[in-house]
Amino acid sequence: MPGLEDLYREIILDHYRNPRNKGSLESPPARRAEGFNPLCGDEIVVYLDVNDKGVIEDVKIGGQGCSISQSSASMMSAAVKGKSVDEVRNIIRAFKAMMSIHSNELGADDENGEPIEPPADVKLGDLEALKGVVKFPVRIKCATLAWNTLTQGLDETA
Ligand code: ZN
Repeated sequence: MPGLEDLYREIILDHYRNPRNKGSLESPPARRAEGFNPLCGDEIVVYLDVNDKGVIEDVKIGGQGCSISQSSASMMSAAVKGKSVDEVRNIIRAFKAMMSIHSNELGADDENGEPIEPPADVKLGDLEALKGVVKFPVRIKCATLAWNTLTQGLDETA
């Protein structure tokens, strides 16, 4: 009988084969942030069009790398498009909390090395497919790369 892990693997592969929001936006006016994971060679470029109401009107993803890094970026783009910057920061926190559970050394803990407390009211949906990655600590940075790059893009003043 197939377990839930088989289903999750299928979602990850689907996003890898058919990446959502692939491309670029003209920058400026769009914000642009670039991330690199030297452990695996993954590159992610995040383009953000944030309107004057603080809503992410459009997001595009560039770059290349392993299936985990690219599918995480694709799922991220689908999860944040049309949401406010505040909502997105909560989603980022919830995702990084999920990825920090089993690793203090390579995981997505905060700058003091403390595990990140997940916000109570955020549902990750399909993104939970990536939870299995925490069993493979060297791959955690593959999964979090897009999210750290997104944070850089949000912090940048357009
Ligand atoms: Zn990777």
